[in-house]
Formats: sequence, structure tokens, C-alpha cells
Amino acid sequence: MPQLLEGKTALILGIANRWSLAYAIAQAYQREGAHILLTYQNERLKKTVEELGASLGAARIIECDVTREEDLARLGESLAGEKLHAVVHAIAFANAEDLSRPFVETSRDGFALAHNVSVYSLVSVARVAAPHMTEGGAIITLTYLGATRVVANYNVMGVAKAALEATVRYLASELGEKNIRVNAISAGPVKTAAARGIKDFSTVLEKVEARAPMRRNVTPAEVGDVAVFLASDLGRGVTGDVLFVDAGYHIMGL
Ligand code: NAP
Repeated sequence: MPQLLEGKTALILGIANRWSLAYAIAQAYQREGAHILLTYQNERLKKTVEELGASLGAARIIECDVTREEDLARLGESLAGEKLHAVVHAIAFANAEDLSRPFVETSRDGFALAHNVSVYSLVSVARVAAPHMTEGGAIITLTYLGATRVVANYNVMGVAKAALEATVRYLASELGEKNIRVNAISAGPVKTAAARGIKDFSTVLEKVEARAPMRRNVTPAEVGDVAVFLASDLGRGVTGDVLFVDAGYHIMGL
């Protein structure tokens, strides 16, 4: 079978460990023949991401904390000479207390932090990456149903995901003429380090399993396969959209 991403180079941001959705996406991209570049947030994650990167045959592993302008500038410099075809943004953060206490108690700093890491980073990463996407390509981010529906304890992250989805549309509108498509995958809940930060997350998994049309939760590999579709030529007519990979949970009313 032909590989869907043969000849394409993908920059993937957001691997923290083997449970990360970014890692599942990177595995799917490797399977489909992509040339992979990774970033990691800081020294704390370097060894893990280097080990996972070796298993993926990653060509380069670059340090990049998306809140640091100097890191973004270095990312841009290290992409010199690269032709990028896909960028995967799988980054989010909010203070633990903002994912457990009442939403109305969200602090100004906590609100700004969640938006800086989880939303503005898509704008800055797109700005750094787009000049290297000279043959067109795909920018893909990860969102969640909490952007448009109220999900207990998701709180400030739901507001950030709403802003992220709007950011996808504005970027898609501007970058479309360069044949750069920008989309979000709205993944169903998956037990990752970020998800463990949400109070009562295991209850969310149980509720989805009980109510989703497919009566189960999704796997990281299923998210990875849709990310392949979006980055591949099969997704060439899709931009500015949110694709749900959630076993159908989002369609359910009563
Ligand atoms: P994860 O493995 O914890 O990945 C989150 C990543 O964001 C980590 O690599 C984290 O690094 C990184 N990050 C946080 N702050 C950063 C910064 N300042 N600079 C660079 N990287 C930073 O969890 P995940 O669930 O795979 O999350 C990936 C994306 O999927 C997120 O956008 C998340 O909201 C989204 N998503 C997840 C689910 C789910 O149920 N798991 C569902 C829908 C959408 P550190 O570990 O160092 O903080």
C-alpha cells in the first residue's frame, strides 16, 4: 500500500511521554513515511523525547517552550533549509486549581496562562512554520468538546479551546491562499498527563463509554489516523474545520 505521507516533513510539538496524543500522531506519521521533527518543552522532558524520537527515527529534536520568544526564534532558525508539509500543535496547559475549583474563581493570571500556552502558541507556531511551508501543507491542533459545551471541571480550558477553534478559522482564512490548511481535531477523552490534571477525569471516561454511539472511548491511534488524513493529500479540500474523533459522543442530546 502506498504511504500517505511519503516525501512529507512534519514538525510535531507536544510529546511529553508515550501516552501523549502527539506521540500517537507521530507514530502514525512514521508509519505513513513522514520525515519527523519533534520539539520538547524543556530540559525535564529532553531525555524522554529523545528516546521516543529515536524510536520514531526523528531527524531532529528541538527544545521549544512556546511561551518563550527566544525558543520560538530558535525554532525558526533551526528550520532554515527545511520544507515543512505538516505541523502538529498538541500543547495545552492550565493551573490545576483552575481545573477543579468553580470557574467563577478563575484568576486573571490563570486565565492568561491557559490562553498563552494553549491558544496564542498556535498563532506563534504558525508564524514561525508557515514560511517553511512553501509547497503548502497542513497545520493541525487538538481541541475538545469543552470548547462549545460545558464539561464539569474543564473550566478555563474550555474557554481556551473555544478561542483555539476561532484561531483555527482566522489562520485558515489567512493561510489558505498559500495552500496551507488549518484544522483542529476534537478528540474524545484519553488518559494522558494533561487529562490527569482535570478533576474527576475518570468519570468523564465512564460517561463517554456509557453514552457515545459507539459505546466506547477512542484510542490515541484513532486520533493519529485522522491527523494523517488531514496532513495527507486526502485532506486537501478541508480547512478551518473541527473534526471530531470521539466515537460520536458530541452528537448526543438526551
Ligand atoms: P500531554 O501528553 O500532557 O501533552 C500536552 C503537552 O503540552 C505536553 O507535552 C506539555 O509539556 C506541553 N506543554 C505544556 N506547556 C508547554 C509549553 N509552555 N511549551 C511547550 N509545550 C508545552 O497531553 P495530551 O492529552 O496528549 O494533550 C495534547 C493536546 O490534546 C492538548 O492540546 C490537549 O488539550 C488536547 N486534547 C486532549 C484530550 C485528552 O483527553 N487527553 C482530549 C482532547 C484534546 P509538559 O508535560 O512539560 O507540560
